[in-house]
Amino acid sequence: MMNFKIVNHFFSQNLLIKLTGQKLILPFYHTISEQRLPHISNLYQIRSTKQFDRDLDYLCSHFKPISIKELDDIVCNNKILDKPSFHLTFDDGLKEIYTEIAPILERKGIPATFFINTDFVDNKSLFYRYKVSLIIERLNTNNESKKELIKYFNLSEISIGTIKNRLLTFGINDTPIIDNIANLIELDFAEYLRIQQPYMSKRDINELLGKGFSIGSHSLNHPCFKEIDINEKKRQINESFQFIEKEFNLKDLYFSFPFSDESVEIKFMDWLYNTANCRLSFGISGIKSDYIKFHIHRIPFEQESTRVQDIIKNEYLYFIVKSIFNKNRIKRQ
Ligand SMILES: [Zn+2]
Repeated sequence: MMNFKIVNHFFSQNLLIKLTGQKLILPFYHTISEQRLPHISNLYQIRSTKQFDRDLDYLCSHFKPISIKELDDIVCNNKILDKPSFHLTFDDGLKEIYTEIAPILERKGIPATFFINTDFVDNKSLFYRYKVSLIIERLNTNNESKKELIKYFNLSEISIGTIKNRLLTFGINDTPIIDNIANLIELDFAEYLRIQQPYMSKRDINELLGKGFSIGSHSLNHPCFKEIDINEKKRQINESFQFIEKEFNLKDLYFSFPFSDESVEIKFMDWLYNTANCRLSFGISGIKSDYIKFHIHRIPFEQESTRVQDIIKNEYLYFIVKSIFNKNRIKRQ
């Protein structure tokens, strides 16, 4: 990301909101933790409880927290926002949502939506990227496994970085290879699921719904939509929606695209709202308008920068720069 640090210093948050007319922001996280989470640590950074707490205080000092119902009203029924507002979202349905995040949000009176992968609820299976992170963790800490992997990839000792990079390029269609590698180094994902329980259970989710939080779909098992065909895309949406309707008795369906909505076609989006009855879908392109009314973009808050005000202000400054070059709208085919 471009460094706006100096410019940033001269713009107040309120001025940026006035200049851009963008009153709505949608921050997005996965989880927070005080401890290293081996299934995530080799993929991306997460924020500590203290950082998360600070993020929320900054957000609440400049924006009003709103629920998904209010957001739905703004997007679908063109309700006008009276004050700068935010709706908080979390992807991947991780356990810390129930144990750490929800209690903090409850205390502060902040609504949120949690997007879950329905195949992973109750720790029934593990996201293939988490499997990769666990293999890398093993590679970093166990010499025997390291030797096995070097042999498997037919590389020299110097190429540890290459092995990690190779593992990180695996997609959902490489799951059999990932499972093979795990077998080779005697890494038991079923045991990890049983002992660590990285995901929320149905019971956890029901309890959160009872407290007024909302739930949406993040697909069945988190494929990159660019890598799967149209029938599989539809199955990922239909079956995860059916699960949510049936298990949690929810009628209003929301969807956040796993990884990214990049290259998803207009025709598919039409199907999503008109046939699959999705009310709103979510991407991760920051503060950006989409030509599709019901598809809205969120700001990833798990960035290198520790100060949330820098993350938000950078997004606003980016929006201004992109507006000048007429690049603040997503083009789709
Ligand atoms: Zn995700």
